[in-house]
Amino acid sequence: MARAKGAKIWDVDGNEYIDYVGSWGPAILGHAPEVVVDAVRDAATRGLSYGTPNPLEVEMAELICNWMPSIEKVRMVNSGTEATMSCIRLARAFTRRDKIIKFDGCYHGHVDALLVRTGSGALTHGQPSSAGIPTAFVDLTISLPFNDVELLRRAFRENKNEIAVVILEPIPANAGLYFPGEKFLSVLREECTRHGALLIFDEVITGFRVARGGAQEIYRIKPDLTALGKIIGGGLPVGAFGGRAEIMDQLSPDGPVYQAGTLSGNPLALATGLAQLRELERINGWNLLEESGAQFEHLALKAIKDAKIDITFHRLGSMFCLFFAPGPIVDLASAQRSDLEMFTGFFHACLNHGVYFAPSQFEAGFISTAHTPEDIERTGEMVRKALKAL
Ligand SMILES: *Cc1c(COP(=O)(O)O)cnc(C)c1O
Repeated sequence: MARAKGAKIWDVDGNEYIDYVGSWGPAILGHAPEVVVDAVRDAATRGLSYGTPNPLEVEMAELICNWMPSIEKVRMVNSGTEATMSCIRLARAFTRRDKIIKFDGCYHGHVDALLVRTGSGALTHGQPSSAGIPTAFVDLTISLPFNDVELLRRAFRENKNEIAVVILEPIPANAGLYFPGEKFLSVLREECTRHGALLIFDEVITGFRVARGGAQEIYRIKPDLTALGKIIGGGLPVGAFGGRAEIMDQLSPDGPVYQAGTLSGNPLALATGLAQLRELERINGWNLLEESGAQFEHLALKAIKDAKIDITFHRLGSMFCLFFAPGPIVDLASAQRSDLEMFTGFFHACLNHGVYFAPSQFEAGFISTAHTPEDIERTGEMVRKALKAL
């Protein structure tokens, strides 16, 4: 791709597409929105990096703590990977334990200990457990099926006083898109508290996309630590992590857990992220995203019904996924029942008709506030055509 503006993206040959990848999530206002581009241009004239704390960092910290009340203290980093990695280190130090529970198909960036039965590109390319990671590391990682309360309880019983942390995407969006069952997150919260383990919500995708307070607001669960990224950088490289003050106080220089980054809190990235988040709130973007999502859902469900293909359609606000499999889809195993050949046919048909969905069954689609009703209408028609041709 060579250029992007609003809901559209153009490849190097000049072909135009309606974009539902949105840089894998950050472009929630669409590409290059004026307020955001103006903010980065303006910030650039004041220097690109200082290597010291700066006022924008304080403003971002205040915004995050205000929007996500479970976060009492927050630290800026440069990517979602850094955020989850730092959360894990901090949780291990705080609990003085080593073992981690994660869930099959949840992706948390390319942190060594978390590249076990992960999602996203690793899953798409057939390497959900990466090479190059010492066995000693992955031996400390327990990966469980999402939504399985019994296996979770068993893991806690069998590893008594050894589990430092449970990390998850509260709404898994890196193996397609599926949802926590009614009690799953509350049981998880209870089990962590009972066994003295910390609960980490990886809201790198859901943070500020699904609601102003993220997935934790929707499901009313208070994690101990939260990882953020993607949207909060507005398209520049940013991550953040935060949570309970007594845990965050373990970080260097106040505490013994080392963490640092030359470009962390970078003024350009924070100016960009702040401009995007403030604009999102100003226009009440979450309402717009829900409206566009509902419009797309309506069109997609009609097209699916008429094509008489077994497709499970999932949507929450502006995130969606068409699984080429019968439901219910509640975890990685059920997502993997999808017919990948059919998905590939569908993906290419859409691409040829000017609609760019993520090139994998195991990714979610993202609508932005720049997608107009006409864009969605046209997308619906293309989905109809593509499904008919399968
Ligand atoms: C993208 C993603 C990450 C990793 O973020 P990077 O900025 O790519 O390192 C972590 N967790 C989730 C849920 C993600 O979607």
